Amino acid sequence: MKLPSFQDGRVVVKVGDITQEAVDAVVNAANGSLLGGGGVDGAIHRAGGPAILEECKDIRSTRYPDGLPTGGAVLTTAGRMPARHVIHTVGPVYGSGGADKAEKLADCYRNSLALAAEAGLATVAFPAISTGIFGYPMDEAAAVSSRAIQDALRSNLSIREVRLVFFLPRDAEVFVSHQAFATGPQQTDGDSTP
Ligand code: ADP
Repeated sequence: MKLPSFQDGRVVVKVGDITQEAVDAVVNAANGSLLGGGGVDGAIHRAGGPAILEECKDIRSTRYPDGLPTGGAVLTTAGRMPARHVIHTVGPVYGSGGADKAEKLADCYRNSLALAAEAGLATVAFPAISTGIFGYPMDEAAAVSSRAIQDALRSNLSIREVRLVFFLPRDAEVFVSHQAFATGPQQTDGDSTP
């Protein structure tokens, strides 16, 4: 399947390992403790090395002694990864999340992109927040995240590229089928003539 782009090419879908993306910031699906975890979180800390955890600990003790709230986002170094920074955001847990879990998931995307824009960053790669250990179904998450990204791109014009990185090809396909961007997909390879 050819993966499309959206929003006039500002949103790109790809399959890969987010720790390898050379962007201004990769987003981490963190937990509120900011002290590391499994999934993307573990992969990012392993790939980036101890400098990330050092900065997370510092942010914890100075700004978020009770942990980063769900939907919040903070910026650290990316250590040894090709990216320049990591934006850590905490997604909602699907099973125990209340009626506002879609709003919390949207907050992750909106706050991460607002933080990136504030820091003068133009290219940001996201994993599919909450769709792993936190159990958010990919199809539901696709609709929520695409709407949130669309909103954020409207208010943060300096963001040039949002790269959505899926570990599994199947997840990228489910995202593409269920995304809710206002305009339809455009093929990235210029091969979209009817
Ligand atoms: P959460 O706790 O928010 O659910 P996870 O890290 O468990 O976060 O998973 C989020 C999504 O990231 C899942 O869809 C998972 O398949 C995917 N994922 C896991 N490792 C990577 C990686 N290295 N690069 C990109 N996506 C990844």
